[in-house]
Amino acid sequence: MNLPKTVGVVSLGCSKNRVDTENMLGILAKAGITPVADPAKAEIIIVNTCGFILPAREESIDAIFDMARYKTMGTCKLLFVTGCLSQRYPQALKSEMPEVDAILGVGDYPRIVEAIEEALKGEKPVYTSSRERFFECGRVLTTPGYSAYVKISDGCDNRCSYCAIPLIRGSYSSRPYDDAVNEMNRLAKGGVTEITLIAQDTSRYGNDFPGGKTLLAQLIKSACSIDSVKWVRTLYCYPDTVDERLLDVIAGNEKACNYLDLPLQHINADILKRMNRRGSPEYIRRLIDECRSRNIIVRTTMMVGFPGETDEQFEELMEFVEQARFARLGAFTFSPEEGTPAFDMPGQIDEDVKKERLDRLMTLQRGISASINASRVGSVEKVLVEGRRGSKCYGRSSLEAPEVDPSIIFTPVSDHSPGDYVFVSIDSSSDYDLYGHESGGDSD
Ligand code: SF4
Repeated sequence: MNLPKTVGVVSLGCSKNRVDTENMLGILAKAGITPVADPAKAEIIIVNTCGFILPAREESIDAIFDMARYKTMGTCKLLFVTGCLSQRYPQALKSEMPEVDAILGVGDYPRIVEAIEEALKGEKPVYTSSRERFFECGRVLTTPGYSAYVKISDGCDNRCSYCAIPLIRGSYSSRPYDDAVNEMNRLAKGGVTEITLIAQDTSRYGNDFPGGKTLLAQLIKSACSIDSVKWVRTLYCYPDTVDERLLDVIAGNEKACNYLDLPLQHINADILKRMNRRGSPEYIRRLIDECRSRNIIVRTTMMVGFPGETDEQFEELMEFVEQARFARLGAFTFSPEEGTPAFDMPGQIDEDVKKERLDRLMTLQRGISASINASRVGSVEKVLVEGRRGSKCYGRSSLEAPEVDPSIIFTPVSDHSPGDYVFVSIDSSSDYDLYGHESGGDSD
């Protein structure tokens, strides 16, 4: 059967979904199907969707319609939809989008070539039943060659009352330790120097293995022990599995970025309880202090407008954020998700009130970010170069995660390529970005 020669992909949602995209491209590459950047040149287009909240679903549906145009005006023969929206609403997608040729769920990627063969026969396959999680199939990176995400587990057992992810990704499962380490070594051999460990719940890693001990601290050590790896960062931790052992490994290892992504969602005890989040306000405050005492910066995510959130409870959140002074904070409004306990909880908050609370929180955070940035003026930072803008270069220090955090923009003294590490003296700052000049000599 004449398989398509080229594939175009739209990868939406989180970094975990991006790793799935890269695994799919790895499977297709083995079947002789080459990725192309321009969808107009792709014989098969895959939209790897996100489906956990309404805005993400809308973005995914728009992308599918957008790519469907190439079936009439480009070389595209097949349009595939994969990812969380497929896993959550396969039949609705099939019935409402006739332009889609196949639908694959989050565990069915190994069947993608089989799906292509079926689709070429006009079958319109829908595969969403597999619960397979990890595919050791030679990823094709879509991140710059010096940086890669490593997914170390999938699914989630925390069952936060507002979250649909366990309904989509299923229960928690750690990736075999050796598979994760082997992949990190493969990536390092391929030129990756920055590794970002990801999952829905990264800090729980390993506790479903015999013995039940969390192994994230050990895994970070394994990653740091790879010679050519320079930075190891951890995202998506859950408060009550972040212990002193983990913080000591992060703080005590030069290659481990002093950076912890710790979505907290709220600080009010009643709200946390109704969100079904473990970790009391006292525990959370202590944890933030533990991070601060080790010079580990915290990125967090907050939710405003959870059902029943009173003005007082929101003010309590504002006070906490003012005191905690997070280096990085993102926030979003509560989105009622079908199938979750919070979907029809009483006390649903008006959208305008949610929006107003979100604006107030992000305005507060902008000020905090500006003052934290100002405190970095005068420092010399090791910067991973990501590119050029005119005469300037831009990049990140170990305190900025890829894709989600601001940049350091600097005047170089010589030519640099993306992936180089250089020292930069910070001369000035804005609310989010830092500005400086290269202070001579490659850092490595
Ligand atoms: S920790 Fe909570 S919010 Fe995060 S994926 Fe799990 S259930 Fe969802």
